[in-house]
Amino acid sequence: MADTAPGFGALGPAPLLPAVGPRATRSLLARGLPLASPSLQIAAVEAVDLSLSPHGGDFARALAASGREALRPGPIEIFQINLGKLCNMTCRHCHVDAGPDRTEETMDRATAEACLRALDRTGAHTVDLTGGAPELNPNFRFLVDEAARRGKHVIDRCNLTILLVPGLRDLPGWLGERGVEVVGSLPHWRRRGTDAQRGDGTYDKSLEALRLLNAAGYGAGDPRRRLTLLSNPVGAFLPAHQAATEREWKEGLRKEHGIAFDRLIFLNNMPISRYLEWLEESGNLERYLELLVNSFNPATVDGLMCRNTLSIGWDGRVYDCDFNQMLDLPALSASSAGFHVRDLDLNALAARSVVTRRHCFGCTAGAGSSCGGALE
Ligand code: SF4
Ligand code: SF4
Repeated sequence: MADTAPGFGALGPAPLLPAVGPRATRSLLARGLPLASPSLQIAAVEAVDLSLSPHGGDFARALAASGREALRPGPIEIFQINLGKLCNMTCRHCHVDAGPDRTEETMDRATAEACLRALDRTGAHTVDLTGGAPELNPNFRFLVDEAARRGKHVIDRCNLTILLVPGLRDLPGWLGERGVEVVGSLPHWRRRGTDAQRGDGTYDKSLEALRLLNAAGYGAGDPRRRLTLLSNPVGAFLPAHQAATEREWKEGLRKEHGIAFDRLIFLNNMPISRYLEWLEESGNLERYLELLVNSFNPATVDGLMCRNTLSIGWDGRVYDCDFNQMLDLPALSASSAGFHVRDLDLNALAARSVVTRRHCFGCTAGAGSSCGGALE
């Protein structure tokens, strides 16, 4: 992909995220914006007139047309723990509304221990740690150690720049000793796309972090030091083809910077939180939702993350996925009561239907999108 490619997608030229200096933007919450409210985010997306789009832009109808009355979960394979909204960055596309000001929402030790007790009752093979920047939570290393001790595959969803923060620079070696997979976010292997989405200077810091990871043995094909890069499109379009782009990224990073990684995955941007704010401000909301709905791909449904993942919030509440968590849509039992990780009823959990809304088209568009990247 050429350096200009991030601005071009399935609908032709699309605007890049606007440059606003070093992205000193604060969270929606800190700016006191109404859109900080999850219910208003849902309402803003539902309010767009998609009556001329397939299935009227109704996710339940799209599912029904593909032969499914509802989304039902399968066995829990991935136990995803969101340690909080605190982050050293304030990326424009963030679906968490994370940032340095989000100091209140952080998982405490009692909830972390409850997560481990719940984990022991499931057959999950993977523990997926996310945030915010999960590494900033004082219980991060405790959870990594405990999950690794249980023989779980552990994933650290890492924004890369956090590895340069004083007190965390030992993390590449520490994580490698425990066989943790690092899933590092990098919008693009070139500077322009990365700094446009995450703020000026992010690209250089990300490369420095990747060098630290390479020096710790990450990115060289060792399954116990797996380095995955994760990219979201820098604009209102769907990602390019994953396999072809991975080849280009590997060659570009190796030739120009001597950096290696193991695999590249893409995530569609979800019309949630700060990305939703940008869609509204840039006049792209209707167009992007139409793109998602028009690109509905039934072949992605079986691989949706809500079917094999349980998502735990920083306060212990249980969700079908991280996106539903950010929209304050808890996983529901038949009695409509939400679950808490302290007292999980696994039978009720298995019997539930996944809570879906229009944002779910973000997971089923094109090649699809889950925590593990494209679904097809
Ligand atoms: S996208 Fe990730 S790195 Fe950026 S602000 Fe959100 S949580 Fe932090
Ligand atoms: S947002 Fe995606 S993963 Fe979450 S419930 Fe909807 S389809 Fe499933």
